[in-house]
Amino acid sequence: MDSLSDLPLRDDLRGRSPYGAPMIDVPVTLNVNENTHSMPAEVVEAIIRDVAAAALTLNRYPDREFSVLRQELATYLGHGLTAENLWAANGSNEILQQIMQVFGGPGRSVMSFVPTYSMYPLLADGTNTTFIAGYRAEDYSLSIESALAQIREHRPNIVILCSPNNPTGTGLDLAVIEAVYEAVAADNGIVVVDEAYAEFAQDRSQNALTLLPGRPNLIVTRTMSKAFALAGARLGYFAAAPTVCDAVRLVRLPYHLSAVTQATAVAALRHRQQLLANVDDIRAQRDRIVDHLTGLGLKPAVSDSNFVFFGGLKDEKAAWQYLLDAGVLVRDNGIPGYLRVTAGTEAETSAFLEHMTAYIETFER
Ligand SMILES: *Cc1c(COP(=O)(O)O)cnc(C)c1O
Repeated sequence: MDSLSDLPLRDDLRGRSPYGAPMIDVPVTLNVNENTHSMPAEVVEAIIRDVAAAALTLNRYPDREFSVLRQELATYLGHGLTAENLWAANGSNEILQQIMQVFGGPGRSVMSFVPTYSMYPLLADGTNTTFIAGYRAEDYSLSIESALAQIREHRPNIVILCSPNNPTGTGLDLAVIEAVYEAVAADNGIVVVDEAYAEFAQDRSQNALTLLPGRPNLIVTRTMSKAFALAGARLGYFAAAPTVCDAVRLVRLPYHLSAVTQATAVAALRHRQQLLANVDDIRAQRDRIVDHLTGLGLKPAVSDSNFVFFGGLKDEKAAWQYLLDAGVLVRDNGIPGYLRVTAGTEAETSAFLEHMTAYIETFER
């Protein structure tokens, strides 16, 4: 009897579906781009110690301005950034939601270029911001000419550029970001560069933090969910002009970052050398996936991230199911002929490659 449609839902949310990457318990989980390497024991111990200290303070609200965390994030990022340039929330998803709450909303629009991160339209729906799905070239690249023509046509209030892009994995040329910024800022719009995977890039110097000086409407978002192996802690952040932090203070919930979250993130940042030591291995596994899939005759995209988007499959749904039956969960992003796989540990990556090879040789030759 009871169904969702009986409830007095907002009209614009009727018929919508929630985010729903499958959560299936299998031996090899390579579908949501987590860092699958186990956390170094030394880091686990540091987190436990600092969370235990935070537990003694839980009768009080946490530091609303998370000053220590912002300072640690600024130190980690470098580029002359200070705590005043940094903001954090419960995952970069909450960061993006706050940005849409404060710069989007009814009568306003956010544009991104699909295929891209599937949460952007959902966050737009939730904040009653119109989502404009821009397009990419056939090879999923985005040229300056194409981006500018689309922006001039739609004049969005917010543009989100995902770089490296999820699900395709390829980083965007900084020249594209600069050109998009010029066009959007001319209308006093906001440009968000989602750099969730920045630490895995082929050339880490090519990141949008270098573009922040003199660009007050530019926001670069990052996360501790991927390279920092901290998806379970929920910590995302952005770097921008201090006035952008003032803007999101208008919509953030009071004390939105718990004392436990702050302690966990600060401990992880202070042990970043040990935590980020796995990044090079993950990049090596990623490159190994690209080489191996190329050898199988498949078409992996250039990857600056910890995952590989590959095409050339005759039946991606059958391949996905075959891998799942073999205990390997990868991602079907709904793009014909393509699947996406996260670079795992060496053993996990080997399991994926072995079963992928068997599938191709048995069913697609
Ligand atoms: C994984 C991912 C995020 C991270 O989200 P969190 O909420 O920080 O876990 C953000 N953007 C993109 C494109 C991602 O793939």
